[in-house]
Amino acid sequence: MLGSIIWFGLGLVLLCFIWKIGLGMLRGMTSTLPPPPPSGEMRRINVRYRCSSCGTELRLTMAPDQDPPPPKHCLEDMDLIAPID
Ligand SMILES: [Zn+2]
Repeated sequence: MLGSIIWFGLGLVLLCFIWKIGLGMLRGMTSTLPPPPPSGEMRRINVRYRCSSCGTELRLTMAPDQDPPPPKHCLEDMDLIAPID
């Protein structure tokens, strides 16, 4: 009797473990984005980027660092137009 309870408990633990691994793998597949940096480290910037392929312009006002890498559009890095002060 006691033995079966122990096995039942072990089964639950194992199930929980497998479930966690499964969720982790699912999360790894669906989101390739890095985790966002802590909000305290965001800096207020003001730069504009333009996509050289389609002309879309983008204004960036917050970034984790002062000189962030250019965002991508149409599979290419956007061009920095001008920092606005
Ligand atoms: Zn584009």
